[in-house]
Amino acid sequence: PEYLSIRQLKKTYPKTTAPAVNDVNLDVQQGDLVALLGPSGCGKTTTLRMVAGLLEPTAGQIFVDGKDVVSIPVHKRGMGMVFQSYALFPHLTVEENVAFGLQMLRVPRAEVGVRSLEALEKVQLSHLKGRRPAELSGGQQQRVALARALVTNPTLLLLDEPLSNLDAKLREAMRREIRSIQQETGTTTLFVTHDQDEALDMADRIAILNNGVIEQYDTPTAIYENP
Ligand code: ADP
Ligand code: ADP
Repeated sequence: PEYLSIRQLKKTYPKTTAPAVNDVNLDVQQGDLVALLGPSGCGKTTTLRMVAGLLEPTAGQIFVDGKDVVSIPVHKRGMGMVFQSYALFPHLTVEENVAFGLQMLRVPRAEVGVRSLEALEKVQLSHLKGRRPAELSGGQQQRVALARALVTNPTLLLLDEPLSNLDAKLREAMRREIRSIQQETGTTTLFVTHDQDEALDMADRIAILNNGVIEQYDTPTAIYENP
């Protein structure tokens, strides 16, 4: 079944004439990782931010598990997000950063500790739990942001170029890591990237966005053979 459905989604920013997102339609099957692929400025981030509920669409609808997202309170949407700028809290430790999302959900304190450590183990960072973000490498901060998104057991994971700031070697390792965590947990994932290799390598399906419209939506094999 489809878990995420986007219908005739449109966004025109204030004081602009051309829409950033023109008419996006997309169905994401439950458990799939879909890459939203396209050049800079084509509307990827704008689309993702609307799905996340961070930006109000000019028109259109977004359905999660059959429900219009506007009818679901934000904390009940089951979404985990990782943005380009990891947005970690500088004054909190790694463990506290990960725990923050659970405290927001009013998870009992004893459970918060256990689950935060589990999430840090998934991204192989539990040994750095006491550090602050400034004392980590870019790749480590990236993984903390991923742990913070995963700790709430999201049913929909939204990733905005989560590997863009990593060097080639670490990026490769993180591709594997994200993909295996995603498959293991069966988390439906929408992954924004401008890197075609990354999309071909990681995605179950690729949606190619151009000028605010999805031009092609198919498996990596089909897109590779018929670009
Ligand atoms: P992408 O993520 O594919 O690089 P974006 O969604 O960030 O594309 O941007 C799509 C278009 O919308 C671009 O032309 C960008 O300049 C414009 N845009 C993005 N955010 C804003 C904003 N807050 N106000 C006005 N225009 C914006
Ligand atoms: P991305 O790299 O993901 O496309 P950007 O670097 O374009 O994102 O945008 C970073 C921030 O700047 C976002 O909050 C976006 O809304 C804002 N922004 C992007 N383009 C514009 C624009 N043309 N006018 C105003 N704000 C913009």
